Amino acid sequence: MLASDWGQVAVEAARAEAAGGDWLHLDVMDGHFVDNISFGPQYVAAVRPHTEVTLDVHLMIVRPDHYWKRFAEAGADRITVHVEADHDVVATLAAIREAGCACGLALSPDTPFSDVEPFLDQIDLLLVMTVRPGFGGQAFMEAETMPKVAAAKAAREAGGFSYHIEVDGGIDADTCHIAAAAGANVFVAGTSLFKAPDMAEAIRGMRG
Ligand code: ZN
Repeated sequence: MLASDWGQVAVEAARAEAAGGDWLHLDVMDGHFVDNISFGPQYVAAVRPHTEVTLDVHLMIVRPDHYWKRFAEAGADRITVHVEADHDVVATLAAIREAGCACGLALSPDTPFSDVEPFLDQIDLLLVMTVRPGFGGQAFMEAETMPKVAAAKAAREAGGFSYHIEVDGGIDADTCHIAAAAGANVFVAGTSLFKAPDMAEAIRGMRG
């Protein structure tokens, strides 16, 4: 939704659902964890009545432990927090799950896969950032991030886990295939869908 027309939240959410989007991904930025400010729980609450699809909320904020509940109350179905943020990761993930939301853990391009390994048995989703978090429209960092997607897939098989592997950043008709080949199964696309001449066709292309 970061790449949508913010003047038309209801229209854009409905448009993405009608075009075939499975989830809506909402990027929350606090101006501290990343050098950008996007929106807070009020935006999630504004989107919620206009779509039936899963709201996948990605918290790029310093204190996800302090704020996640407000997003759950606003209507988030899935809440993803960063391993690099300032919190007790185990406690935050457990609290999110206890509240009835699916919990995800994200890692930025500079963070090694080993940093998330201790938590793989506690998550519903692993979000591998494929650009540096903070701004939409960046180029996909294939060399830095695809080995982590492959490692996540291998670890899932080895450990008997079932978490989704989500890629986020620079995803379009070409890069989604690269990420799928590496093992990703959830693809966050912003600019390449909202700015496409035909969003439904762009989504079909990615599925193919
Ligand atoms: Zn995101």
